[in-house]
Amino acid sequence: MTAAAPLIELKNITKTFGQGQAAFQALRGISFSVQAGDFVAVMGPSGSGKSTVMNMLGCLDTPTTGEYWFRGQRVDQLTRNQRALLRRHELGFVFQGFNLLARTSALENVELPLLYRGEPAAQRHEAAMVALDAVGLTRWADHTPAELSGGQQQRVAIARAIVTRPSVLLADEPTGNLDTHNSREIMELLARLNREQGITVLMVTHEPDMAAYAKRVIRFVDGQVASDAPNHATEAAPAEGAA
Ligand code: ADP
Ligand code: MG
Repeated sequence: MTAAAPLIELKNITKTFGQGQAAFQALRGISFSVQAGDFVAVMGPSGSGKSTVMNMLGCLDTPTTGEYWFRGQRVDQLTRNQRALLRRHELGFVFQGFNLLARTSALENVELPLLYRGEPAAQRHEAAMVALDAVGLTRWADHTPAELSGGQQQRVAIARAIVTRPSVLLADEPTGNLDTHNSREIMELLARLNREQGITVLMVTHEPDMAAYAKRVIRFVDGQVASDAPNHATEAAPAEGAA
C-alpha cells in the first residue's frame, strides 16, 4: 500500500522581507508535509519564522521561493482570487488576540464567514449554532465579547473558524493571552475537534504543556526546521477504549 498524498506539503520555502540593504530572510528553506488528521505543534524562539509560515499556509502571504502544495495543487502559483477561495473553503484561523468584532454577539461573530460566502440567513444561523454548540457556548450566543471571559472569547473565535467546516485549522499562539486553566480548555477543545471531526490542526505555541496535546512537534530555529518528531507524550497516552 502506498502512503496517502499529504494534505499539505512545503518544499524549500523561503521568505524575504524588504529589499536591498534592508532585506531580511525570515524563512531559509522550510520543508515539511502534513497528513490529513494530524495535530502539529509548531515551536521555536520568537522571530524564528513561525507566524510567517502560518500566514503563508493560511494564504495570507506568499513565499518568495519554494513550493506550497495543498491537496495536490500548487498554491504558490494560484492567483490572489484562487487563494482567497482556498482560504474560504479549506482553512480556519485562530489568533492569539481572538479578533472578534466588539458590540457584536457571539452568534453574529460566528456567522460572519458564512455571510462573506453569501449563505442565506437561516442557514447561517443554524450552522453558527452548531459551531457554538461544538465549543460549548450555546447559552452565550447572544453575548458580546466584552461579556465573555478570555477563554470564552477564544472559543467563539474557534467556532468562527470551524463554522465553514474547514479541513485545516491554523492557530497562531491561541493560548498566548490565556491563563493555564483556560489554556488547557482550549487545548482540549482543539484535540477534540481533531479527534472527533477529523480537522487537521497546526498550532504555534511557546509552552511545552500546550504542545503536549499535539501528535507531532516541529521546531523552528532561524527560519529553518531544527527538528520534526512525533510527540511521545501523546503516543504514550492509552489508546481510546483501552482497558
Ligand atoms: P515568530 O512568529 O516565530 O516569532 P515571525 O514569523 O513573526 O516570527 O517573524 C520572523 C522574522 O521575520 C522576524 O525577525 C520578524 O521581525 C520578521 N518579519 C516578520 N514579518 C515581517 C514583515 N512584514 N516585514 C519585515 N520583517 C518581518
Ligand atoms: Mg509569531
